[in-house]
Formats: sequence, structure tokens, C-alpha cells
Amino acid sequence: MSGLEPAHAEGANSSHSTMTKGFVHSYFPGSSVDGPGVRFVLWLSGCAFRCQYCHNPDTWHLHNGKEMSVEDVLQVLRPYEPFLNGAHGGVTISGGEPLIQPDFVRSLVDAFHGEGYHVALDTNGFYGSKLSDDDLSKIDLTLLDIKSFDPAIHLDAVEQPVAPVLETARRLADLGRPAWVRFVLVPGLTDQPQNVEGLADFVSTLGNVQRVEILPFHQMGAFKWKELGLDYRLANTEPPTPESISWVQEAFRSRGLEAV
Ligand code: SF4
Repeated sequence: MSGLEPAHAEGANSSHSTMTKGFVHSYFPGSSVDGPGVRFVLWLSGCAFRCQYCHNPDTWHLHNGKEMSVEDVLQVLRPYEPFLNGAHGGVTISGGEPLIQPDFVRSLVDAFHGEGYHVALDTNGFYGSKLSDDDLSKIDLTLLDIKSFDPAIHLDAVEQPVAPVLETARRLADLGRPAWVRFVLVPGLTDQPQNVEGLADFVSTLGNVQRVEILPFHQMGAFKWKELGLDYRLANTEPPTPESISWVQEAFRSRGLEAV
């Protein structure tokens, strides 16, 4: 059991079976960058976005993963339980985009809570409508990746509209559920002032966002695009400068938000 307080640690809802199956791309037992404490991260396969800067294009299709039941996942997780208990962490469901598989996510959340874990969901928010308010309320922390605020930049960056993402953000806020917002800073793509300032304005109105993480673009996933024969448009894009990162952090901080 983790040191953090899970929303539904006791008497976890068993309406979702541990026999529910879904597609799992991979997992990592000791992440320190996917939520509070040390996390067991489960990457599910499938995603409807095509982010220009995606460093995991090998997760885009369901068949990129292996079919597993919730019980299979619990079997994988159990050996790490003592380690996670001592590290004040929990489990983070990520992807790809996990809400491509909403039934699987619901069942995983219940199962992880049944084991006493703090559960975070790392999502781009596009399929938030697949979760009910009750479902959203069970998630201890949502890591909401808002790729851009400006509708045209969002569409260009990920090939999907931003409106459903912002709707998910507002629902989480209305429910008072804890959220961290993540924003990938890509020079020449997402770093336009109206995009950054617009996002900072929007996030500052929500009231449930505990921190904003500015994630600097990097080239570490470039080789995967090449391996998959995909057209990688950012091959010549440099990571953001420290000054640029500081400017974006300050845009959020000046509105009363914690930004790292
Ligand atoms: S949402 Fe995540 S997995 Fe999907 S394309 Fe974007 S970066 Fe890649």
C-alpha cells in the first residue's frame, strides 16, 4: 500500500471484473516523473492523437500492445508492492492514450484501489466523455496533458481538436478532483505567446490544478519515427532554451500556479 491516500482504498468497487482485458504496451516499476513518489507506470496501447513530437509512436495502435487481463496486470505488479509501499508512490496508468480503452481503465482503477494504491491517470483528455463523473471522481490524480490552448496550434500539433480536452479539464475542476497539467514546450510549434498565455489564463481559472509541468521537447523518440517509416516533421527542431522554459514557467507562476 502506498503512503498516499487513495480515494477509494477501502471496499473498492468490484463491479469491474479483474478478468476485463485490454492491450498493454509496457510497464516500468520505478518512475519518478509520472506523479507523486515512485510510480509503477503502465503504458496502454492505442492513441487517436498524432503529436508531432510524440516519443512513443510505437504505442499508437492497440495491436502495438499485448492483451492482458486486469488480473494479469496485478500479477506483474505484486512483486513491486514492498518497494512501492516504501517509496510513497503508487500506480500511474498512461499510454498511448489510456481512455481509448475506458472499460479496461475503469477495471484497473478499481483493482489498484483494491490493492490500496494511489492511482494516477495520465491522459490527453480527448476521450474524457468516456468516463462518468463517478469514474473521474475515483481517480486520485489526473495528469492532464494539454498539448496546446490555441485551437489551430492544437490541431496542427496533434491532428485533433482541443475542445474535448478543455471540457475534460473543466469537468475535473467542477468535480474538485486533483490534477496536474502537463504542457510540452516545442520551439516554433507550441511556444507562441498567445498559446502559452491563453493556456495559463485557462488553467488559472480551474482551481483544482496542483502543479503545472513544463516538459521541454527533446529528440529522444526520433529514432522510433525512423524505425516505423513515419514522416518526422521536427527533425531539425532544437530543445527549448532555458530562457524560454523560464518564461513559460513564469507565465503560469504569475497567475498563482505552481509551475516546474
Ligand atoms: S497523446 Fe501521447 S501517445 Fe498520443 S500521439 Fe500524443 S504524445 Fe504520442
